[in-house]
Amino acid sequence: MRDYQSWGRYRHAEHVVLPQRWRFDELAGVSGKQSILPYGKGRSYGDSCLNDGGIIVPTENLDHFLHFDTGTGVLSCESGVTLAQLLELAVPRGWFLPVTPGTKFATLGGAIANDVHGKNHHVAGTFGCHVRKFELLRSDGSRLICSATENSDYYQASIGGLGLTGLITWAEIQLKKISTAFIEREAIIFSNLKEFLALSLESDRNWEYTVAWVDCLSAGKSLGRGIYYRGRHHEEQGEARACETRKTANLKIPFDAPSFLLNTATVKSFNAFYYHKQLKKCSSSKIHYDPFFYPLDGIHEWNRLYGKQGFFQFQCVIADDKEGALEELLKRISKSGQGSFLSVLKRFGNSTSPGMLSFPRTGITLALDFANKGQKTMRLLDELEQIVVEAGGAIYPAKDAIMKARHFQQFYPKWKDFCEYLDPRFSSSFWRRVSGQS
Ligand SMILES: Cc1cc2nc3c(=O)[nH]c(=O)nc-3n(C[C@H](O)[C@H](O)[C@H](O)COP(=O)(O)OP(=O)(O)OC[C@H]3O[C@@H](n4cnc5c(N)ncnc54)[C@H](O)[C@@H]3O)c2cc1C
Repeated sequence: MRDYQSWGRYRHAEHVVLPQRWRFDELAGVSGKQSILPYGKGRSYGDSCLNDGGIIVPTENLDHFLHFDTGTGVLSCESGVTLAQLLELAVPRGWFLPVTPGTKFATLGGAIANDVHGKNHHVAGTFGCHVRKFELLRSDGSRLICSATENSDYYQASIGGLGLTGLITWAEIQLKKISTAFIEREAIIFSNLKEFLALSLESDRNWEYTVAWVDCLSAGKSLGRGIYYRGRHHEEQGEARACETRKTANLKIPFDAPSFLLNTATVKSFNAFYYHKQLKKCSSSKIHYDPFFYPLDGIHEWNRLYGKQGFFQFQCVIADDKEGALEELLKRISKSGQGSFLSVLKRFGNSTSPGMLSFPRTGITLALDFANKGQKTMRLLDELEQIVVEAGGAIYPAKDAIMKARHFQQFYPKWKDFCEYLDPRFSSSFWRRVSGQS
């Protein structure tokens, strides 16, 4: 039987599992008393997709496409369709996701409920900016069609609404035109945080996709060194060429890795190897979109590399003028020796996210994994959270398992307005933790 946990495997939850069978059915679990939470593919790291002691409603049966206008790129489908399934339909017809997170195994419903962002945030904003409408099924049986003009308050509450306003049964989104399945990519080595910031400013003017891998254990003059990736869709003149999806390699981590595998020495060696593997300062290539956007999806269940104790992801955003705070975060992480090799920096643009609780806002976002080493990791995460609080930044709920209620409420000042749109039967482990509501 499938284990409905979150990607970080740190928090364990006991659920009653009642899958939604069909989009026209009433909400699964509504006749009982326990709280309800929709569940996509559990690609959220912390506890926002968990409802310990309550009901979760997996959406895997809601996997039907409803309409696709290949002339305009407007597509509607049920909310359990994964981004991978969506790409398989759209790419051969010359269309692509307007915004994509770093995994294609998330569902459409999950992408909306976390208002996910991608490498093109500086030009395209969040996923929610491209959602034209959706249907929201509430526990009283009502169905609301939500768009920027119809039930617009529920539209704003449900985009980034963490699954708490009702079940999104289907949605209509605007795709992006492409003429090939390839990306023109440049990889540029940078030696420290200052160089990253300069590259970021320059690249965001001319490149659609930008992101950097950062060596989180580097220190001193090399603090924040890494490799900057920028890309754009490869265009082909004349008739649009057939675009092809590519099957992801079927590698799988078969068991929980022993905890000694990921220690400071192994991560340091890996990071040094990765940083130095590119010999030229800048290299250019044309690559398929799959390894460009989804490098981790090639290894199924890679989260088991962190062992039985699971891991945390920490993702925050810090305003551009608070460079000192970003530097301090990197210093603390490096000094702790706890960061892993999966560490990312990216500049968010200044588009306003449509959701009341959307995470992205102008500034630099830092995301990285920490193996769960108990109290030592908790202390570090606490310190990092405090730096974000003092800098007036924010932490991303989709990645979080431990942020304090008072900090969530500071990061998301519209949370009280949001409460008006909560479905009275819906809740999650995350929500009970950060709102103080049972
Ligand atoms: C390798 C990897 C890379 C990632 N990269 C990024 C990234 O670049 N940017 C980014 O923003 N995120 C990123 N993420 C996080 C991930 O994209 C989000 O957590 C996403 O929301 C997961 O979708 P899911 O379908 O698995 O939803 P789940 O994790 O199962 O659920 C997420 C939330 O959506 C709600 N939900 C799910 N379905 C519905 C529905 N039908 N109606 C209403 N609510 C619903 C749930 O209740 C829950 O609150 C990444 C995750 C991984 C594992």
